[in-house]
Amino acid sequence: MNIEKNKADWLECFETKNAEVAYKIIENCLMPNYNELYGEWFTNRSRDDIELLGKVFEYEDIYFTDMTFKDEEFQRALLICQDENRNDVNYSDELFDSLSVSYGDWRFYVADLDGIGGSVNYFKREMRVNTESKDDISLILHEMIHIYELTLQNRYPIFAEYLIIQLYNKLKPLIENLDEKITLNSHPLLSGDMFRAGNNHGTLFLLKSLDLDLRLKLSLGTVFGYDREGYMKDEA
Ligand SMILES: [Zn+2]
Repeated sequence: MNIEKNKADWLECFETKNAEVAYKIIENCLMPNYNELYGEWFTNRSRDDIELLGKVFEYEDIYFTDMTFKDEEFQRALLICQDENRNDVNYSDELFDSLSVSYGDWRFYVADLDGIGGSVNYFKREMRVNTESKDDISLILHEMIHIYELTLQNRYPIFAEYLIIQLYNKLKPLIENLDEKITLNSHPLLSGDMFRAGNNHGTLFLLKSLDLDLRLKLSLGTVFGYDREGYMKDEA
């Protein structure tokens, strides 16, 4: 790791204009045309785009019932209340619709991307995967984490925080030195380039990516990418 370069990146990232403001401007300009954009994508989807969408649907049901709050345990804890007659009122369907990518809000593209495996733009509701990586489950899951993470952080930040605690408690007994891994991931000397680029690979992202590594029996750090596998190994 080039400490000096990363330090410079870190300093620069704090001088960058607030990305949120920029996104708001984009959102205000773009969203009036959103139906048109969605219709255009829907009409012109390639076979690869449709296959990618199929994988996203499948993976959502298997791997993301926590981030979509479809897990019964989360619903019981947060989304079911009792009315004055002590009948259960369940708010989970409404929430699930707004968190689910299968709800018909997002556009998915397989395209030749210049040097990157994939990308997500929350305000354009767009996920792109490089043609070379279109069958790479760890890359698709990586991009999907971004979708749920950004949706929660923008629309339901309290649930995003709740999920961090739940994932932490789930993973703590399963992963050695989890606290150190979180600290390392948060360190600007390691993440400076990502801070500067406005990418979000914080604690929620890290924990969910480790959860998926375990479930898929991959080396820790695989779903995260960015050469994190090496950093995730514990010293013997
Ligand atoms: Zn990413």
